Amino acid sequence: MSSKILVLPGDGIGVEVADQAIRVIEKLNEQGLNASYEKDLVGGASYDVNGEPLTNSVLEKAKNSDAVLLGAVGGSKWDDVERSKRPEAGLLGLRKELELFANLRPALVFDALVSASTLKNEVVNNLDIMIVRELTGGVYFGQPRGIEDTPNGKKAIDTQIYYDYEIDRIARVAFDLARKRNNKVTSVEKANVMETGVLWREIVKETHKDFSDITLENMLADNCAMQLVRNPKQFDVIVTDNLFGDLLSDCAAMLTGSLGMLPSASLGEEKNGKRHGLFEPVHGSAPDIAGQDKANPIATILSLSMMLKYNLNKPELSNKVESAVQKILSEGYRTGDIYTNEDQTLVSCSKMGDLIIERI
Ligand code: NAD
Repeated sequence: MSSKILVLPGDGIGVEVADQAIRVIEKLNEQGLNASYEKDLVGGASYDVNGEPLTNSVLEKAKNSDAVLLGAVGGSKWDDVERSKRPEAGLLGLRKELELFANLRPALVFDALVSASTLKNEVVNNLDIMIVRELTGGVYFGQPRGIEDTPNGKKAIDTQIYYDYEIDRIARVAFDLARKRNNKVTSVEKANVMETGVLWREIVKETHKDFSDITLENMLADNCAMQLVRNPKQFDVIVTDNLFGDLLSDCAAMLTGSLGMLPSASLGEEKNGKRHGLFEPVHGSAPDIAGQDKANPIATILSLSMMLKYNLNKPELSNKVESAVQKILSEGYRTGDIYTNEDQTLVSCSKMGDLIIERI
């Protein structure tokens, strides 16, 4: 059956890196992917044409596609635009409307880039972990919130709330992922000091009954931060709430050394065997190098690879893409952001695309 991919390049280098990912889709179509793709506007590019960063028509297309691939949004050109029409509002709108509650961020260290990490080689070589962050609940959304004047001075309030169903559905995503990886889930909270942590631990334990083939470990968030830099290879899949996930996924990302290499996926609820998915690099629109054919397209190409694995059910094609990236790096090709010495060959964004495609 043919799959429909909506490509939203967005702004800045988003356009350049998305172009390379589209070429990879075309190459994979020759090898059995069977996907059609359509390009449309989001972010500042959409605002310039339509007066809004996400139109209803694009939203409908996103809802009707099997997966969305996004480049990046934003840039100083839109700094003075009102908040609700800013490029970032387009991305947030997409995440909200597609109800993407699970954010997946792998931290994968490629052999050839092991020296780009600030940690010792033996701590990070062959590292392959996945952080699953709850994205639509928790303290970033809980009410009441605000800053109030009181007789005792100003008071700031944030509220952490989790319902059992929110914990159950994110735990299921993590256990499912672990089944496709190394069969271990570490659930992270602060059950020692937070009520939401107590419920989190209880529900994850309950959900685990449906996944008894997977090893479950519970860990306090502060210990997890420490373990991530001490011995990250002990982890396979880490599942945690919105706030801790925000912190721990950035910490894990730095184990790998470079922004231009980091893919991500955001997934929605599974309905009739299908779920919405938005796949995008972690980096932004990089205005400093936009339009110069200098961007590293690997994060976006690896985001496409996640799409193949998690939404389009083509793990063999996903592996092909990842092997091609490994190969190109071990042959010494580098875009500017990961170029470290003269033994390497400095290449442009489009050349990096050519090289990866040749090796798929
Ligand atoms: P950025 O990620 O765009 O850039 C940070 C630095 O990393 C820059 O020096 C840039 O050149 C470099 N860089 C990033 N991606 C690269 C790549 N693929 N190849 C080579 N170098 C790369 O972050 P920023 O400068 O803080 O933000 C720029 C704009 O992007 C802002 O408008 C911000 O709001 C937006 N932004 C968007 C997203 C998104 O679309 N998801 C994420 C972060 C920032």
